[in-house]
Amino acid sequence: MDDLYRQAAEIIAAGKRVAAFSGAGMSAESGIPTFRDPGGIWDQFDADEIGTSSGLIETALKNPELIRRFLGQALDTFERSLPNAGHSGLAELEKLGRLRVVITQNIDNLHRDAGNSNVIEVHGNVYRARCLACGRKQPADKAQIHRKLRALLSAERLDLVALAKLFPACPCGSPTRPDVVMFGEPVQQLHEAYAEAASCDVMLVLGTSGAVYPAAALPHEASQHGAKLIEINPTENCFHPITDIFIREKTGAGIPRLVEKVKARLKG
Ligand code: NAD
Ligand code: ZN
Repeated sequence: MDDLYRQAAEIIAAGKRVAAFSGAGMSAESGIPTFRDPGGIWDQFDADEIGTSSGLIETALKNPELIRRFLGQALDTFERSLPNAGHSGLAELEKLGRLRVVITQNIDNLHRDAGNSNVIEVHGNVYRARCLACGRKQPADKAQIHRKLRALLSAERLDLVALAKLFPACPCGSPTRPDVVMFGEPVQQLHEAYAEAASCDVMLVLGTSGAVYPAAALPHEASQHGAKLIEINPTENCFHPITDIFIREKTGAGIPRLVEKVKARLKG
């Protein structure tokens, strides 16, 4: 195993454009369940009722208690989640000048919280507001959103009008919504993500099953353009045939160990 880490560190140290591509597994050790874990959110809620914007509005009007339960569970999870050692390792890799970009499918803001500065969030970010009229995007204060939502969920009746105003209005005066990609909506910054994938020479593939397209095409794009793929995941998945080095490990343990090896390689 140590040998695999050493080989991967060699590749990263020699890389000119290193990219990371992360999925839900990256945040599992921060307490956010992946989609495919038993007990994950889609085990308990119907994606048609909650996962599309039209379904969400219809459900809110018909069954506000279901929305309260869903939001309560999401809030309990997100309120407690902090970047884990894997996120911090990627931030350190950026500081070492060894990581150019993080492309993530996660919406939890944990890569930014950890300190990565160039993050492409193809499925959006739940702590960013998007104007329904002009499309302008504004980061929202995490603690404030948590506090306001907790107060709304604690009231005797769920106030849907106040819920719709959870995020501050746009400077143009129009209402906003969380800037996340719901089922059936287009993926964000796909052009930038493809350009990074096509031009990187190393891609770290971290905690993603490769089941959700078009994001899952990015490692294939990188590989087709000659990049080396280093994957960290406790389970083999769709990327296995194109992976150059597969490290069977959780990202919270595997990334810090890999970063230590990169540091040793850069020193020596
Ligand atoms: P997925 O649920 O399909 O797969 C998760 C992957 O993570 C699996 O390959 C699993 O083996 C791996 N994994 C589990 N624990 C791990 C750990 N500790 N370390 C490393 N890997 C681990 O997730 P996906 O491929 O990202 O696709 C699902 C979709 O779910 C994405 O669109 C994503 O936007 C969304 N999602 C996001 C979050 C979040 O923001 N944190 C959470 C759940 C789902
Ligand atoms: Zn606006």
